[in-house]
Amino acid sequence: MKSASGGIMKGFAMLRIGVTGWIEKDKPEIGPNDALVKPLALAPCTSDIHTVYEGAIGERSDMILGHEAVGQVVEVGSQVIDFKPGDRVVVPAITPKWCTTVVQAGVPPQHSEGMLTGWKFSNIKDGVFAEFFHVNSADMNLAHLPDEISLEQAVMMSDMMSTGFHGAEMADVQFGASVAVIGIGPVGLMAVAAAALRGAGRVFAVGSRPICVKLAKEYGATDIINYRNGDIVEQILEATKHNAVDHVIIAGGPPEVLGQAVAMAKPGGTVANINYFGEGDILPLPRLAWGVGMGHKTIRGGLCPGGRVRMERMVELVLHKRVDPAKMVTHRLQGLEKVEESLQLMKDKHADVVKPVVII
Ligand code: NAD
Ligand code: ZN
Repeated sequence: MKSASGGIMKGFAMLRIGVTGWIEKDKPEIGPNDALVKPLALAPCTSDIHTVYEGAIGERSDMILGHEAVGQVVEVGSQVIDFKPGDRVVVPAITPKWCTTVVQAGVPPQHSEGMLTGWKFSNIKDGVFAEFFHVNSADMNLAHLPDEISLEQAVMMSDMMSTGFHGAEMADVQFGASVAVIGIGPVGLMAVAAAALRGAGRVFAVGSRPICVKLAKEYGATDIINYRNGDIVEQILEATKHNAVDHVIIAGGPPEVLGQAVAMAKPGGTVANINYFGEGDILPLPRLAWGVGMGHKTIRGGLCPGGRVRMERMVELVLHKRVDPAKMVTHRLQGLEKVEESLQLMKDKHADVVKPVVII
């Protein structure tokens, strides 16, 4: 089905690896279950940087970037029940196809049509940095945005909250348990908040930038470990009197941090990775620290959960003041054309940048 309004729109795109620019495209067509949405707020992501400048997902040409958005519904397909033009919606970064046998078999829907296929925006279709964007399975992937929640808070739900919280879910953080979060950019900061909300006792935040350290404390970190001050495994072991920690969440750092995470986890502990590992073919594991293969240290790695119920739960957390993700917003820009500047801020990542937001 062609969008009823038709026409041309502009968007900020990856022209090819390493090159971005503004392009014009036809407004997306929507099918019977889909929605056409216009952005109200957008945020650039570290993943956009990996995509454009590191070729993380391979070559793409003229693909509109961005996957973090809050929007207003412009048009819906004939089968969409719960959303109508004018509704304000939280748009998850991950928008799976929900009716597949993979989902029926209980596999995380992020992989419902194959590995990582739930990640559609700025990966296998155009992203959200445009005048309009397409949302598949609107009833399953959009969530209504209550008036009490700000656009800044809401745009942090799409990816930062959902991914950070998934770190704590995959680590299966227990009441009173000790947790280390490696990397405290916005994803790690939300993992710190999630660990605290799940009742962790001691929460080590591994990071260095003062602005992130301050936020980590506000979100519930009890201890700060600076990775620039020496080996983080030694620092954690010393701080825990060689007890190690129950859970580790990896939200930053090079491939070596996986081994460090395993080394700082107790036997029986869990390591949950939400970080993107962009180098090498093999991820190294320390044989002895992994109990020569028998240490009962569980390693999990996962993609941000998407979909409507997930976003509705993120909305509940913010609505009832369990967490305020907008504290991470360090830069506020106005107007669609500013997505270009916001991406540059993310690329340069000066010491004062945690998360920029563009209000349209
Ligand atoms: P970020 O770059 O803002 O934060 C990562 C932090 O890790 C940085 O502050 C960096 O200084 C720090 N760091 C670097 N080396 C370190 C080390 N050795 N030890 C500890 N910290 C170290 O990025 P972000 O936006 O918070 O995202 C974190 C990662 O998560 C990125 O790789 C991103 O692509 C990925 N990501 C994954 C998902 C998912 O679905 N799993 C979703 C969004 C982002
Ligand atoms: Zn993102």
